[in-house]
Amino acid sequence: MEVYEYVYTAGKNGEEFFKALKDKKILGGRCEKCGRVFVPPKMFCEYCFGLLKLEEIKGKPIIDSFTVIYYDNDGKKLETPITVGFISFEGVEGGILAYVEGVPEIGKEVEILEYNIPLRVKVK
Ligand SMILES: [Zn+2]
Repeated sequence: MEVYEYVYTAGKNGEEFFKALKDKKILGGRCEKCGRVFVPPKMFCEYCFGLLKLEEIKGKPIIDSFTVIYYDNDGKKLETPITVGFISFEGVEGGILAYVEGVPEIGKEVEILEYNIPLRVKVK
């Protein structure tokens, strides 16, 4: 079977998450049973299967982990290395990938410069 193109759906909560990014907001989903909050929001809590209710994330964005990329996909050395980080938010499970500007350090707060996927952030 040949497939030439397909449409991926992010689901109801995923769609709201992407719409909110355009308004410079990070949406998460809070479990109605156990209260855990997830970013990006899925439909159900992965611990207790409770439904997630969307809410704006206000917690500080911090660098959870990062790596520095020195070579492109063809093995050619980049003129400027690219730092990619996983950004998490205080009190929230999960996170979002980001291009990181500045000197990265795990646990350090960042400022979100661009609300895309990946985000673009700057180390504070
Ligand atoms: Zn739960």
